[in-house]
Parts: sequence; structure tokens; C-alpha cells
Amino acid sequence: MTELERHSYDVVVIGAGGAGLRAAIEAREQGKRTAIICKSLFGKAHTVMAEGGCAAAMGNANSNDNWQVHFRDTMRGGKFLNNWRMAELHAQEAPDRVWELETYGALFDRTPDGRISQRNFGGHTYPRLAHVGDRTGLELIRTLQQKIVSLQQEDFEATGDYEANLKVYAECTVTELLKDGDAISGAFGYWRESGRFVLFEAPAVVLATGGVGKSFKVTSNSWEYTGDGHALAMRAGATLINMEFIQFHPTGMVWPPSVKGILVTESVRGDGGVLKNSEGKRFMFEYVPDVFRAQYAETEDEADRWYKDPDNNRRPPELLPRDEVARAINSEVKAGRGTPHGGVFLDVSSRLPAEEITRRLPSMHHQFKELADVDITAEPMEVGPTCHYVMGGVEVDPDTAQSRVPGLFAAGEVAGGMHGSNRLGGNSLSDLLVFGRRAGMGAATYVDSLKDRPKIDEADVDAAATDALAPFELEGGENPYTIHQELQQAMNDLVGIIRKEEEMEQALGRLSEFRSRIAKMTVEGHRQFNPGWHLALDLRNMLTVSECVAKAALQRQESRGGHTRDDYPAMSADWRKKLLVCALDADGSVNVTEDEQIPMREDLLELFEVDELKKYLTEEELPA
Ligand code: FAD
Repeated sequence: MTELERHSYDVVVIGAGGAGLRAAIEAREQGKRTAIICKSLFGKAHTVMAEGGCAAAMGNANSNDNWQVHFRDTMRGGKFLNNWRMAELHAQEAPDRVWELETYGALFDRTPDGRISQRNFGGHTYPRLAHVGDRTGLELIRTLQQKIVSLQQEDFEATGDYEANLKVYAECTVTELLKDGDAISGAFGYWRESGRFVLFEAPAVVLATGGVGKSFKVTSNSWEYTGDGHALAMRAGATLINMEFIQFHPTGMVWPPSVKGILVTESVRGDGGVLKNSEGKRFMFEYVPDVFRAQYAETEDEADRWYKDPDNNRRPPELLPRDEVARAINSEVKAGRGTPHGGVFLDVSSRLPAEEITRRLPSMHHQFKELADVDITAEPMEVGPTCHYVMGGVEVDPDTAQSRVPGLFAAGEVAGGMHGSNRLGGNSLSDLLVFGRRAGMGAATYVDSLKDRPKIDEADVDAAATDALAPFELEGGENPYTIHQELQQAMNDLVGIIRKEEEMEQALGRLSEFRSRIAKMTVEGHRQFNPGWHLALDLRNMLTVSECVAKAALQRQESRGGHTRDDYPAMSADWRKKLLVCALDADGSVNVTEDEQIPMREDLLELFEVDELKKYLTEEELPA
């Protein structure tokens, strides 16, 4: 029997970003003993890096805003492929979640009359992002952590133990989920520092592990984004949807090489920054697609007037959804109108006074000064697309966040459906809060419904331990770093922003080669803090996720949102009705099948003009 540390909880939440913390708060408030496990330090989740803000139709900056407008914008941004029920819940509940954060202690920027300030972002009709300068994610995490401490203080008063009902296990990586029959029974992992194994026995697990960006070479994502939750869910029998849709954020740093991919927040454009090519031309006017033409300005004058008078002018095309802007930048660079380092110019210096830039965009000012020796108050930035977000993720029930596996829930970036083929900026932070809370509630209700607690099968624990130690067992194999670099390059080059059938076939060939190489890779040294071993374990997950992305991308013969096919450049109303569902076969290979989208409810369809719906839906789907 494997030697390990054992814990028992009602709900185990894997991930301590916004989704995980909100889920854990809810589960604990519903009276469940809850553990939060994270492989990073507590407080260092991806959510901390979120800059621009959290989208919620509070109507503070423009009283015309409401959940219906937010719902419409979200569906348009996702090109109508979104799970409409998730988009509806999200738009309806986001304002309450932001106001609730204030009750936890969040200090948002204010309007002159003292309400929560809201800023413009791409694809949002009205200023909608509640924010704290360009450090919103930090405030969100700070506040959620503060709430956790306050709950722990309540528990101390009641039991004498701060951690009686809510405990954080940081720097602990989960490598496998365990089941009793069909249902979840726990999670198996290891302490990163000591390498020792740890078992969490629990009838409900909430995955809140974030995204997959580390499978791509140029990315805004940090080291934790290795698709662990996606792969854990699949190995446990759950399904993933929308995996072909990867968001390439239009503006990442392109220079110097060591920082290539680091995000340049969309707030720069929301606050007035414009994109120019090497000829000094504001090129986005050339790239407004038909579906958005009515809502975007045709001249620079009109676009500039919009910042002061949004009710009587149309939006600047720099604020189109991210997929459109990323493709436009890609085309300009390909046409030879790029900057010296292969990007385009993003200029805010000629648009706002220096003191306003440093007040509104302090992190960007600091980032460019420190990393590129560029003063953004005096000169333009060089920017280009970077892999930023995965729209695909665990297929969940919209109301409860439960996957197809009883007891397994998912929320935040690891869950799929909400954002369709393309996420609007700011809609992730609100997604974390809305669906984090729902996942915590779903998990608590599920635990209450159980007659018996599922049991851990010791043979599964032994198998998880054997799998985790496998990279130490072989000698003379390749090290994981080389394979990781090649995987990132292959995904970047062959399944990147513009996709072609032959390149994706080639990618699948490379991925199958990586699969055999990964089976034979070795790591040196001991289990005590061993980054090579950590990467070896993460690499299995990155490979599974990459296979999902490449196979689904090859299968979807259309271009939509974060999936652009050179060989199928148009959107197809027939493909919009289809979901590509990824599951694991018995031999561990990824199998992609088609499923039908559930048609949108009539009252939600009525929120759109029929002429607009015609651009996305088939004849039969249109309202009578
Ligand atoms: P995360 O916050 O990433 O948390 C994941 C957690 O899971 C971490 O604690 C990690 O340690 C843990 N974990 C992962 N795998 C394991 C494992 N195997 N075992 C244990 N723990 C594990 N969105 C917006 O809406 N507005 C913005 O302004 C915005 N700005 C952004 C700026 C940047 C630079 C980036 C990269 C993203 C931005 N986003 C923004 C997107 C948004 O930040 C993320 O989508 C969101 O924070 C994801 O939150 P999460 O809770 O799902 O996951």
C-alpha cells in the first residue's frame, strides 16, 4: 500500500484562483468541510494577473446598460456558439457578484458620484468593466482571500480551530482524480516541496485549475497553465467541448524576446489607444467584418468622438472582439507592414496626457519601462498576438456546474461553453465569480443528496502513485524540457492563429511522436523539489489538451471566433449548431464526436433583431 498523508473533506476545490476561491467560500457557507488545493503559492493564481476588469452590467457609467445588453454582447462575441443558458446566468448574476465583492472588502475605482467605475472594453456596448486601475485581478484575489480568513475566524470562535471547515493546501499538485464506480471519491497528489504523496477523500471535487496556454510557445499565461484540470476531467470520464477555440489576444509584447507574449491589457485601447502599422495608418477600419459593420465607426473622426459621446457615435474598430483584432494584426504583419520586431504599433502616448496614462495604466507603464525600456507616455508600444485564453473546457450543466461525472464540478477557465468561440475581455473575472459560486452550491447540494460516502479503492491509489513515479523508473530517456519546447513550437506553428488542414495533420503526427517520446522520458534526481519531475507530470496533460485542440480544429470546417481556417474562411450556420466533444478512449487517445447544440430559448432569441440572427442561424432556427 502506498505511503501517504490522508485527509477527508466534503468538498475539495482544486485551484485557488477566482473560480476556486469563490467555489470554496460557497461550499463552506453551505456548511461543507472544504479543502482548497493549489499547485502554486496561495495568492499566486492566474487571476492575480488580470488587469482590465470584471464585466458586469451595473449601468453605473451608462444607465442604458442591463443584463440583456450584456447577454447580447456575449453571444455576439462568441459568434452565437456560446451555451446560451450560461451566458444568460452570467449576464444576470454578474452585478450581484461584483457588489458582493464590495461586501467582502473590495475597493473598486469610483465614478465622480461615488459609484463603482466601469470602463470600455472590446465587444461591450457600454462601459462595463468594474476595475481597480489595471490591477483588478489582484484586488479580486485579495478580497476573496480576506473573505476566507474571515470565515476561518468564525470557525475558530465556534471550534477553536481556524482550519476546521476551510483549509488551504498550497504548493500541492493533484495528479489524478479517484472514483467509486461512476462517482468521484477523491483526489490524489503530491507536495511539490517534498514530493510526498497526499490523498484527499471527498465525494465532490470542483476543478478550478484555469487554462492551457503553456502548450503554446508565445503566451500570456504563466507556468501553472498546463491544462491539468482539463486532462484530469477527461481521465475521470468527463468530456470537453469547444477545444478548437483558443483566444489569441491581439496585444502581447513582441520585444525583447525574453518577454514575448506578456500581455498588454485591452484597457489601453479601451482608454483611447489606437493600432497603427509601419506606414502610420490606423488599419483597423479595413478589417470590420460584415456582422459588426453597423456597430463600428467608419472614420477616425467618428471613432474619436465615441470616447466622449458614445450614445451618438459608433465604436472605434480597435474595440472589435479580440479574434477580429488579432487576425487583422496578423494580416498587417504578413503584408509587410509590421514593426521592426514583427508586431504593430499601439499608441496611447499621442492620445492621452502623460499623467493620465500613468494614473489609468500604471502597470503597463511600469511593464514597458522595466522590460523593454519603452516609455509609453512618450512613444508607441510594439504588440502582436499571444495565446491568452482557452474557450474550451469541461462540459458542465450550466446551473450546477456538474460535469458528466457525478461529483465532478468545474468552474472558471477550465469549464467550457460560456464564451462560445471567443471570450469578451472582462467576461472571465465575472465568469469566475458567477460560476465559482454556482459550482460551490452544486457541489454542496450533491453531497447532501448522497446516501453513502463513496469509498477510495486502494488499488487506484497505488496505480496513481506508480504513474506519478514512472518518469524516475526509466534510464537514458529524453528530458521533459526538450519535448515541452518542441510541443510548444509545434502548437504555435501548426495549430496557431491561422490554421490549414495539412498543417494540422502534420501537428497530429508530431503529437503522436511526442506521445511515444513522453512514454520513454526520464527525470534525474529525487522527489524533493524537482522541477524536471513536475514538468514531466504536467507534460502528459499538455499533450492530451493539445490533441484535443488539434483534432477538434481539424474537424471543424469553418472559421469562427478563435478558430480561423485558411481553407474554410467563412462561418457556417450548420457548423454553429455543432459542438465537438472530446473524450478519452480506453487506450488514452482523444476521440472527438459531434453533438447538437440545444436551440436557444424563444424569449432570448427575441432579444435580437431577426436580421442579425440571419447572419448566424440556419433558416429553421430563426423565430417564426
Ligand atoms: P486561475 O486563477 O489560473 O487559478 C488556477 C489555479 O489552479 C491556481 O491556483 C493553480 O495553482 C491551480 N492548479 C492548476 N493545476 C493544478 C493542479 N494540478 N493541482 C493543484 N492546483 C492546480 N480576464 C478578465 O475577465 N479581465 C481581465 O482584465 C483579464 N486580464 C488578464 C490578464 C492576463 C495577463 C491574463 C493571463 C489573463 C487575464 N484574464 C482576464 C483572464 C483571467 O485572468 C483568467 O481567465 C482567470 O483568472 C482564470 O481564473 P481561474 O480561477 O479559472 O484560474
